[in-house]
Amino acid sequence: MAKATAKKATATGSEKTSGATAPKIKSTSSSNRSSPGKSGSSSSEEGLLEKFFIDGLKDIYWAEKALTKALPKMQKAATTDQLKTAFGDHLAVTKEQVTRLEQVFEVMGKKVQAKKCDAMEGLLKEAEGIIADTEKGSFTRDVALIMAAQKVEHYEIASYGGLAQLAATLGRDDAKQLLGQTLQEEKDTDELLTEIAENNINSRAEQED
Ligand code: FE
Ligand code: FE
Ligand code: FE
Repeated sequence: MAKATAKKATATGSEKTSGATAPKIKSTSSSNRSSPGKSGSSSSEEGLLEKFFIDGLKDIYWAEKALTKALPKMQKAATTDQLKTAFGDHLAVTKEQVTRLEQVFEVMGKKVQAKKCDAMEGLLKEAEGIIADTEKGSFTRDVALIMAAQKVEHYEIASYGGLAQLAATLGRDDAKQLLGQTLQEEKDTDELLTEIAENNINSRAEQED
């Protein structure tokens, strides 16, 4: 049972997703969940997990859309053509992933909806800081951009890995297939970035003053 994640209400209620139960998480008493024998435990449990799953979809959907805006900036900031190409390619892939997520909402019979992902917002802020703090045209900038991008990929890998597994648990093979496809793309991208760093960027960065 341990389900400790209290959902964080976005302080600015303005862009809250509609519908979903307003965050009223303030329950002081520790035992609000004494699972009353009524209310059919098994079916309500399934409902909660599915809701959590859909919330996760909304989160990563927001994140992917944010990435379609961030990747062009990262591409432009990169020094080497190789990294520019990698970011450009991943932008195209990311746009497909947005569409694929819309398909997942569809097979789940849910409305397509984005919900702000605080983690991705932070990771992208960090990427912007890196661009500001490293010298234009330097290999060190590419080293830093690769690290920032890999932090993003790892967040995505964790998200899609978990969501694909949840889809399987929920008996939704259709959703699992779609999520698994994106998971593999994120893993491939992570590996490619490692290769670029280790073969072509890191050592050159080490030589520059
Ligand atoms: Fe992605
Ligand atoms: Fe998130
Ligand atoms: Fe990605």
